[in-house]
Amino acid sequence: MIAGMSPVIAFTGAGISVESGIPPFRGEGGLWSKYDPRLLELDYFHSHPEKSWKVIKEVFYDFISHASFNDAHKVLAEMEEAGKLSCVITQNIDNLHQAAGTKKIFEFHGNSQELICISCQRIIPVTETDFTIIPPRCNHCKGLLKPNFIFFGEGIPKNAYEGSFEATGNAAVILVVGTTGEVMPAAQVPYLAKQSGAVVIEINTEPSRYTPFITDIYIEGKATVALRELWNAVQLYT
Ligand code: NAD
Repeated sequence: MIAGMSPVIAFTGAGISVESGIPPFRGEGGLWSKYDPRLLELDYFHSHPEKSWKVIKEVFYDFISHASFNDAHKVLAEMEEAGKLSCVITQNIDNLHQAAGTKKIFEFHGNSQELICISCQRIIPVTETDFTIIPPRCNHCKGLLKPNFIFFGEGIPKNAYEGSFEATGNAAVILVVGTTGEVMPAAQVPYLAKQSGAVVIEINTEPSRYTPFITDIYIEGKATVALRELWNAVQLYT
């Protein structure tokens, strides 16, 4: 199907980055078993920026910033390069798809490698941010900096939202990799693809919300192994 149909798109979640050493949010070893999700609520962040930033720095900057892309990210970049994948829609904020070489990407939840000043709205790259003082402040106006990813209570970036749903409505095949399908509205993407006639191919280490309802082909396994084997097989037909 991947060899013969077009366009093929991919929808990814935290599971694709687990083999890069980044834990998912839910389940055993998930981030929410260690940290309070309230720290990423917008209202809480505004009223307790120091408390939120202490954890944000530890999880997203001391840790995720040092992770490297894995073979699953690389396969998707290779598929795009070969003209077999038209875009990646990701819920992840770790920048690893781009690091692996993916060009056309819709980041549903933003990106941790940029910060936004909540006073002057400047976007500041993480490399130019001083984390020795918490909470970090804008170099220009000294306003409070916030990671440029979506907190609970925030809207989805317009370009990512519209671009994702347009690509989804046109897809012939959607590869759904490493997501529980629990976070709305991103979780709607595979449902919309299915409704629009796409074949749903899912890769996960365990069944998700999609598996019994909309998944046409379920490949149980780690993203790195399953995607590499799948891509090797597709290349035999193209
Ligand atoms: P989730 O944490 O709810 O679920 C992770 C999914 O990945 C599960 O279905 C699990 O079975 C599967 N999985 C685990 N290891 C896998 C592997 N090696 N190969 C394939 N699948 C594997 O993740 P979600 O559905 O993406 O929702 C959580 C939200 O939090 C999303 O917005 C997500 O992007 C964000 N988040 C992002 C990161 C990141 O940027 N890396 C990390 C944690 C959470």
